Amino acid sequence: GDQILMTVGSRINAAVAQDVEAVARIGGDEFALIQSGDSGADAAAALARRVASIIATPVEVGSNTVSLRATVGISMYPDDGTDPDHLIRNADLAMHRVAQGQGEDYRFFSNDMNNDAQIRLDLETDLRRALDRQELENFYQPQYDIHGMLIGMEALVRWRHPTRGLVPPGQFIGVAEDSGLIMPLGDAVFRRALADIADWRNRGLPVIPVAVNVSAPQFRDGGLIDRIRAALDTHGLSPDALELEITESVLMADHVGAQGFLNRLSQEGFRIAIDDFGTGYSSLSYLKTFSIQCLKIDRAFIADIVEDGNDAAIVRAIVTMTQALGIETVAEGVETTAQAAFLRSVGCSVVQGYLC
Ligand code: C2E
Ligand code: CA
Ligand code: CA
Repeated sequence: GDQILMTVGSRINAAVAQDVEAVARIGGDEFALIQSGDSGADAAAALARRVASIIATPVEVGSNTVSLRATVGISMYPDDGTDPDHLIRNADLAMHRVAQGQGEDYRFFSNDMNNDAQIRLDLETDLRRALDRQELENFYQPQYDIHGMLIGMEALVRWRHPTRGLVPPGQFIGVAEDSGLIMPLGDAVFRRALADIADWRNRGLPVIPVAVNVSAPQFRDGGLIDRIRAALDTHGLSPDALELEITESVLMADHVGAQGFLNRLSQEGFRIAIDDFGTGYSSLSYLKTFSIQCLKIDRAFIADIVEDGNDAAIVRAIVTMTQALGIETVAEGVETTAQAAFLRSVGCSVVQGYLC
């Protein structure tokens, strides 16, 4: 890491020394450049592109070649700030807005970003309060097998907001993940789910497993399994009461670490489902190395399954493959009887969606 930073630092120095006032490393992997004079936005953009391309040239470290990518945020004096603190903070906001993976290298700061940042901060404060006041609720979406038997449910969290009404997770899970609030939030979801299962059981209803969604930060948290275990013990439930849904992008981000963690979960008796299958940058080889019980076909493939021959072919192939591997398939987002009939005809074992 140190070697890479030194190489990058000296490359930037050598390439831009004549054009800038100062180059500095201001954080772990963050550098700041000050360009002075009346150089204007065009010159700033040209500098950003140049720095990005210098950094994109692979770095040799020992016998390894490391590829790096720079993202650049630009703030302009005096419009975006009249003191160093504001200029740096706004450049930082712009830097974090550079779209990942879309070939974009730099962004200029705009006032919207400040507003957005404020909105996110307010949302975080509000969400923290919501957790204390227990405003989060689990909704359960049923999963049916081909005989129409209820065989599972997915817990989908909702925020019953005092003024905004029922807020869907898409509007707050991202902020929860970035702020770390996903830990207490995720714990509340599986605790609620287990309490509900115990309540249903005590009323004489069968114990049906509940699937809970596990975000990347939860997945990396070493204490997760112990906390789930403690909650299971409280209600006298075994691990097969829960299914943990993990998206394939989370698994692929650290597939070596993921493999160890999944093995441990499966040794402890937990069921694992791969969520949103087909949308991440996945490698099919993980299907044989990871211990998973279930694969959920993303609803993007289900939506047009009746009309679109390609979607139909992909789903048929996924079902055939998972059957051969002894893994269950769940089709997500099933909305029509025609979709359900097609899925049944190709042998997809479980459906979930607004139809049910
Ligand atoms: P997901 O895990 O892929 O959940 C499925 C989403 O599709 C849900 O949206 C569900 O309401 C929606 N859906 C279900 N059936 C249909 C259908 O037939 N048609 C259509 N168009 N949509 C359908 P929801 O509840 O808004 O959840 C969105 C995402 O938020 C979830 O996607 C999941 O990634 C995340 N999420 C939800 N609850 C939790 C949670 O407790 N923890 C974490 N970490 N993430 C959660
Ligand atoms: Ca899910
Ligand atoms: Ca999904």
